[in-house]
Amino acid sequence: MNKPIPDRKKPTLAVHKLTSCSGCQAVILNLADDLLALSRLVQIVHFVEAGLVAPEAQVDIALVEGSISTPADEQRIRQIRARSRQLISIGACACSGGVQALRNVRDSGNWPGAVYADAARIDSLAQSRPVQDLVPVELELWGCPIEGRQLVAALAALLRGIPPLSHSEKLCQQCKRLGNICVLVSRGEPCMGPVTRTGCGALCPAFGAPCYTCFGPAEQPNTEAMGLCLLGLGLPRRQVAERFASISVGAPDFTQAYRRWRIPVREEKS
Ligand code: SF4
Ligand code: SF4
Repeated sequence: MNKPIPDRKKPTLAVHKLTSCSGCQAVILNLADDLLALSRLVQIVHFVEAGLVAPEAQVDIALVEGSISTPADEQRIRQIRARSRQLISIGACACSGGVQALRNVRDSGNWPGAVYADAARIDSLAQSRPVQDLVPVELELWGCPIEGRQLVAALAALLRGIPPLSHSEKLCQQCKRLGNICVLVSRGEPCMGPVTRTGCGALCPAFGAPCYTCFGPAEQPNTEAMGLCLLGLGLPRRQVAERFASISVGAPDFTQAYRRWRIPVREEKS
């Protein structure tokens, strides 16, 4: 393994992984020219997928991918926080608990027993949580996976002492600016753009597909109006609830919306 020699002229950066699929790390590896630009701004000292291994290094900026899903994750995130000047959560897992957080809202029972031959070997917490539930976080970059240019822009801003741009506006605003034909209005597709944060470039609607919330909730998402809109499209109530139970279900706004919409109408009236 390569042992990087610290270059004192540049701020140092580490990329850590907790419980996740490594997709956000793959985005960093695939940055191409932007990765070269990044390496001019910082010295990357720990990034296992790039062959740099120094997990205990003290760094200026730590990027953390993955949710807190195991006792080992809980221990490691506290160590990472203690060794980092600034900590950035990257991706839906680190920002909301990820798809693993489906177990937070579903009655999943003994799921390890249903999946693994020897469930006793699985050391998993009852809930999957975002990084900010355990330690302070300077910045969250949402997405499944993150958007690479958003990461580079955020790092460049932070290194210059400028607050990074907020991407909490609703996806519809970006989608309309890009001139996409609205799949919700024109085709009655259950697009979640009205409650989802921007940052992806309205990728799915640009290809004629509805958004399924992978960048998490926008600021002040009106999940009640969104649910009523989906009901108006003809979705059964249960499916309305399911639209909030995707990759970002661990985000409180979507957890509450899922719980609110899955209540059968009879029970709600009583
Ligand atoms: S396609 Fe989706 S994201 Fe785009 S404007 Fe319509 S509802 Fe909003
Ligand atoms: S349009 Fe929605 S689901 Fe598609 S990439 Fe963007 S945030 Fe994710």
